[in-house]
Amino acid sequence: MSTRQVEVTIIGAGIAGLSLATQLKLDNPDLDITVVGPVDDRNQRISTWLPNAHDPSPLLRACIDKHWGSWQFADLVGKQHQHSAQAWRYVTLDGRRFKQAQAELADQLGVVQIHDSCHRVKGMGKGYQIFCGDHTLLSTQVVDTRPPAIPESTVKQQFVGHTIVCEQAHNYRSPMLMDFSVAPIANDGLTFIYCLPLSERELLVEATTFSPTLQAQEDYEACIERWLATHLPSSSTWRLSDTETGVLPMGPTQPINADLVRCGIAGGAARASTGYAWHGTQRQVQRMAARFTTSSTLSTLPSYSLRARWMDRVFLRVLKHQPESVYQLFMAMARDLPGDLFAQFLCDEGGWTPCLKTIQVAPKRPFIRALWRS
Ligand SMILES: Cc1cc2nc3c(=O)[nH]c(=O)nc-3n(C[C@H](O)[C@H](O)[C@H](O)COP(=O)(O)OP(=O)(O)OC[C@H]3O[C@@H](n4cnc5c(N)ncnc54)[C@H](O)[C@@H]3O)c2cc1C
Repeated sequence: MSTRQVEVTIIGAGIAGLSLATQLKLDNPDLDITVVGPVDDRNQRISTWLPNAHDPSPLLRACIDKHWGSWQFADLVGKQHQHSAQAWRYVTLDGRRFKQAQAELADQLGVVQIHDSCHRVKGMGKGYQIFCGDHTLLSTQVVDTRPPAIPESTVKQQFVGHTIVCEQAHNYRSPMLMDFSVAPIANDGLTFIYCLPLSERELLVEATTFSPTLQAQEDYEACIERWLATHLPSSSTWRLSDTETGVLPMGPTQPINADLVRCGIAGGAARASTGYAWHGTQRQVQRMAARFTTSSTLSTLPSYSLRARWMDRVFLRVLKHQPESVYQLFMAMARDLPGDLFAQFLCDEGGWTPCLKTIQVAPKRPFIRALWRS
């Protein structure tokens, strides 16, 4: 057993933990930081919107595989609507490569990495005792990024994604964000297919639900198979190259230890109306690091504006009671919002304008009724 005194311990070597560690160390080269957590080599394809005006860091740029200025939606009968954007682009990055690159950067900067799980954190008068493998750390500050529990009542984004390689080129040129023309998997929510053309012959096809109830993986796989059977030419053959799965919170979670500062999904960085967490996590990391620079203190800072959190609460009430109205909202956004405003709205960027435009196109009655529901 070894015992070591450190200034900052970050629990979890996922996207949030490693991003926070490197940002803190870049801003404060003398800060003594330890990251505790097994090497996270899960396959994760992460997609998000980035403003064209924003130049990604070289590390992030090296992880971006592809980007698009347009994306599509399909309604219940398969009618398609396309968004085109001028100021924003939809990018897809290799999450596993990003974590590897962040871990290498952390190493170069002098962040200590302990690849053990943390068993317990015990608060002491002026710090914490962290137990992991053969190590005990005595740490002045701790940030927890371990995945929180998702209560039964919280709506979840659950998905299974298959990366397939087609024998011949497929016809997809831009991402299909939501194709609702599939048989529902969840009876108490929404079901749709998400399809990302990774290359001329490679597709990531994900069956996704927004629902409080978890469904069996086979149901998602059957949904993907049916979609492929109707959306690829009948003569085409393909092979499965990868599978990824996820359950993301769209609403309240239960932290492993509510007394600790938290970051990433553990810190509420998943957008409640979508489950998307990349943008919120990176913004939270920047905010926490900036606050640390001025106060030398780490605290859980919100990833989203009050405005976005309020709109998401209303959205989730509608999703719980009238999921078909949320389908209508997404289709109204697909039809009537310009691509740039849609991207800004989902990323909670651009102030009030994207929100007001979304309210303008939304079906009014269910959302007004939801304002009075608890
Ligand atoms: C397959 C997949 C695809 C996704 N795609 C997108 C996307 O396209 N766009 C988007 O915006 N978001 C996406 N997300 C959501 C989000 O961006 C990711 O979930 C992201 O990984 C969240 O990062 P995190 O660090 O907050 O949490 P996690 O990735 O869950 O990291 C938590 C870390 O804690 C570690 N840990 C757990 N227990 C312990 C312990 N006892 N001790 C030490 N460490 C521990 C885990 O090993 C893990 O590394 C996706 C999620 C998944 C799972």
